[in-house]
Amino acid sequence: MGFKYPVTKPSLTGRELQYVTSAVSNGWISAQGPYVKQFEQAFADYNGVAHGVACSSGTAALTLALRALGIGPGDEVIVPEFTMVASAWPVDYVGATPVFVDCRDDLTIDPALIEAKITPRTKAIMPVHVYGRQCDMDAIMDIAFHYNLRVVEDSAEAHGVKPVGDIACFSLFANKIITAGEGGICLTDDDRLARQLAHLRTMAPTSDRLVPGDEQRHSFLHKKVGYNFRMTNMQAAVALAQTERLDEILKIRGEIELRYDKGLKDVPGIILMPPRDVLWMYDVRAQRRDDLRAYLAEEGIDTRLFFKPMSQQPGYLSPDWESLKAARFSRDGLYLPTHAELTADDQDHIIGRIRAFYGVG
Ligand SMILES: *Cc1c(COP(=O)(O)O)cnc(C)c1O
Repeated sequence: MGFKYPVTKPSLTGRELQYVTSAVSNGWISAQGPYVKQFEQAFADYNGVAHGVACSSGTAALTLALRALGIGPGDEVIVPEFTMVASAWPVDYVGATPVFVDCRDDLTIDPALIEAKITPRTKAIMPVHVYGRQCDMDAIMDIAFHYNLRVVEDSAEAHGVKPVGDIACFSLFANKIITAGEGGICLTDDDRLARQLAHLRTMAPTSDRLVPGDEQRHSFLHKKVGYNFRMTNMQAAVALAQTERLDEILKIRGEIELRYDKGLKDVPGIILMPPRDVLWMYDVRAQRRDDLRAYLAEEGIDTRLFFKPMSQQPGYLSPDWESLKAARFSRDGLYLPTHAELTADDQDHIIGRIRAFYGVG
């Protein structure tokens, strides 16, 4: 807020207003409205996956995914060290335990370190496609197959990376590649899992007989604890319009990545990060990072620091966090303004200020 160059900004220049206006003027504002199904279908089709189940957030999507796979108390889930805490919390919400694995040089989970963390309690792996870099899914799927584990992808930062695991979970928060303000969606090819996800999202209703032979069906019978994790038709209206523009938005973001690469690659003090599969946030490593950040803030340019390792979080504190690769990156990493409304001039200005900070023309 208040920065001339915010780190993120939604791009709402397609049919977003038209669809949301239609939702409101037709009175369809709840989750019953038609845009929810249309968005689910459009996003699933875009990804070449059979089913989409929209919900209230990326965190909710991950929670639904773990529950649908039957993960609960006593189970362990492999989660990356280098991610947002919203990857790990859903594991706690379902009563299971996250077990953390360090990252590679591209910040994604290191598959070579996963096997050492697998125990008889391990039920699933959660690869997180951090900043739009797809994890090494071939290696992860091999491990999952070998140990009979399920795979829940946290794709919150990677719209456009095609799902590979059992369920892929996307966020539609305002700072993500596409947005609904708040929202999320699970994608899966599995019919049974799709039904479970939708069932749990909507308070897990059943219409069974209470006892065999009972003639009356009971519509307010609930055999398991469900959630109200529904997405409203107003959010889905925006999400549908954004999905229609996903290719366009990814193309603009791809150009932003190249422009930053080109403008920063010869700057002493800046280390470029490996390329992304889709660009969420443009990340770099920076010498005197905190000074750079303060300098850019003075110039109206907002930046964000890298995630901290999960083992450094008070809730998951483990004394070895300091030796993690994730900790090393979190000490000098930051990301620059990255959004589809950023112009070439904006970028040239930002690049120019970074070059000035390091004393190169
Ligand atoms: C944003 C994000 C989430 C959470 O999504 P919300 O929609 O904010 O709940 C989860 N994981 C990662 C990696 C994220 O970036």
